[in-house]
Amino acid sequence: MRNLKHFLFSCFMIGIIISSFGQQADEQITQTAITIKNGVSILILGTVQDAGSPHIACEKACCATLFKNQDASRKVVSLGVIDSKAQKSFLFEATPDIAAQLRDLRKHSTFKNTDIPDGIFLTHAHIGHYTGLMYLGKEATNANVVPVFAMPKMERFLENNGPWSQLVSHQNIILNPLQNREETQLTPNLKVVPFTVPHRDEYSETVGYRIKGPNKSALFIPDIDKWEKWDAEIISEIKNVDYAFLDATFYDGTEINTRDISEIPHPFVIESMALFENLSSSEKKKIHFIHFNHTNPLLRSNSEQTQKILENGFQITRKGQRFEL
Ligand SMILES: [Zn+2]
Ligand SMILES: [Zn+2]
Ligand SMILES: [Zn+2]
Repeated sequence: MRNLKHFLFSCFMIGIIISSFGQQADEQITQTAITIKNGVSILILGTVQDAGSPHIACEKACCATLFKNQDASRKVVSLGVIDSKAQKSFLFEATPDIAAQLRDLRKHSTFKNTDIPDGIFLTHAHIGHYTGLMYLGKEATNANVVPVFAMPKMERFLENNGPWSQLVSHQNIILNPLQNREETQLTPNLKVVPFTVPHRDEYSETVGYRIKGPNKSALFIPDIDKWEKWDAEIISEIKNVDYAFLDATFYDGTEINTRDISEIPHPFVIESMALFENLSSSEKKKIHFIHFNHTNPLLRSNSEQTQKILENGFQITRKGQRFEL
């Protein structure tokens, strides 16, 4: 009995210690927010491919332990953009992880007292990139006139197909049309430009974004077919920005048991590295790989592939990173 009491007391104390660690982490987050208070910044809210991690029905080693112990850093690709001066925040992509991601965005937007952002930008109609919109509807938060920015085909898709059309008719969301390569001014210090990219476009076109702050800008291309199929030139697009968050769905063919990676409509990381091989080290440093399939070894910070990317002068995007614009 005495031993049991002792055991319970120890558990209680450990609980206190763990929760105070959590508090410390939160304080550190607030601290980061304060140091970038006057500027515009990007906050990484997720880095994983549409289906997340662990991945449905995955029998491989990559997901085995994740079904038992979820990893809070494994969230589907999304960026938050915070303008502290204008006191506005924006979400890029509405993922299935939107609830946690909006809470994260709010935590870093010290001026904000609700989770609902001032606008949501969509790239395309694949499940990881827009289905989080459903949480704005009646069965969830029943949001009121949240501006959603989308390209024409994406807009028609949302307007004409349930359950998305209900978000429009109930005015949970208000659609704001975008045009290819036309700039939208969001605040005095923040502009966004969408541009179309080749991808598996069944329901919508696919875009990437250039996000421009007062001093720096970023390229965000989470999904694209091979670089050479694009009508723009990725190397010169990288020259025009300070950060480039680029599709890194698969590292190489071994992940999907194929040698013929030319058939898979994504730039494999090893193909991108070869293409960017002769860039200067300052150009390479801009490249931040993102949108990792559950099989991608870059999700593990201790993998040899992660080591190789870093040794070659490139970067790997991690949830929680913040970039000043
Ligand atoms: Zn995707
Ligand atoms: Zn897996
Ligand atoms: Zn896609």
